[in-house]
Amino acid sequence: MKANIACISGDGIGPEIVREAKKVLDKVADKYGHEFNYNDILMGGASIDVHGVPLTDETIEIAKSSDAVLMGSIGGNTSTSPWYKLPPEKRPEAGLLKLRKALNLFANLRPAYLYEELAEACPLKAEIIGDGFDMMIMRELTGGLYFGERKTVEENGVKKAIDTLTYDENEIRRIAIKGFEIARKRRSKVTSVDKANVLDSSRLWRAVVNEVAKDYPDVELEHMLVDNCAMQLVRDPKQFDVILTENMFGDILSDEASMVTGSIGMLSSASLNDTSFGLYEPSHGSAPDIAGQNIANPIATILSASMLLRYSLNLSEEADAIDNAVKQVLKDGYRTKDIMSDGFELVGCDKMGDLIVDRI
Ligand code: NAD
Repeated sequence: MKANIACISGDGIGPEIVREAKKVLDKVADKYGHEFNYNDILMGGASIDVHGVPLTDETIEIAKSSDAVLMGSIGGNTSTSPWYKLPPEKRPEAGLLKLRKALNLFANLRPAYLYEELAEACPLKAEIIGDGFDMMIMRELTGGLYFGERKTVEENGVKKAIDTLTYDENEIRRIAIKGFEIARKRRSKVTSVDKANVLDSSRLWRAVVNEVAKDYPDVELEHMLVDNCAMQLVRDPKQFDVILTENMFGDILSDEASMVTGSIGMLSSASLNDTSFGLYEPSHGSAPDIAGQNIANPIATILSASMLLRYSLNLSEEADAIDNAVKQVLKDGYRTKDIMSDGFELVGCDKMGDLIVDRI
């Protein structure tokens, strides 16, 4: 297969971790007979330095004409970097929001997987962890409370703030379809999370999800209220396969789920639209505090590249090869600084990339 991948190295540790992910993709291309062409594009602080804006229209076009986008992370130290003296719409993060919007990336996927070898980093008790857990949070990304109308008014001398939570059935249907499709590639269970005992938007969410479920009789569906879900994530995370939910609930639950896995340097993510196109990036930021020191953990970005192969290029075997190589490296006792503990061998960012390449 030939594929065009737009690459945003970004800021901070971005260039270091994207370099390692490309190495891994190159090894996959070599082994399985594919050709991956990279188009390096600028976004965030790196783009501000060159173009004066965090994202240019030309860059959006390059991203759009690619099969997928692989990204490191963007942004700098928000207290000291001159990028944060610019007006909000010119700051690094504005580039990412603009890109997500331009590419219509409405579905955000964040896996929360507990590696047996890193179980001690998990804050849950051993009897809850059992033999680990493996879930995927599917969050709606372009609707709901964060995009609804909002205002602050003053009535009779009292300030009042209003935020609106709106979803139409089409927005719910397209994310629900994605959720069921992803579940089919996993363990075929969807937990749809809402607050249908209180909110109209949740009642519509539940009705539409039930409708979509009829087309997926092979996938088990359950509904769960968001407050219960927050509790179940720490009580019994093993029960979950795909958690399907709206924007704000997903924002909160995905952070909770990632916390119970231990290290932020291990967590990948994908944002998808209604084609096979997607933007793949680690869940963490640009870690300016450790940039340029060759100590960043590249695994979240490497696993994001694996998601790119699985979801945008439909190369599941190749994605499995990357995931298994990561597991093997951990089993063989190699650790970057963020996941280091006694008795293991400390390696830098580039060495970790090499070790994963060797195991593919
Ligand atoms: P951060 O995730 O960059 O860092 C938090 C802590 O985790 C730091 O101590 C950092 O050293 C560590 N860390 C993060 N990734 C690591 C890795 N791969 N290996 C080892 N350690 C790692 O969060 P922050 O410090 O709050 O934000 C820094 C910048 O990143 C800000 O400008 C923020 O806006 C930006 N940011 C960007 C994205 C994105 O690009 N999508 C997401 C979140 C934050």
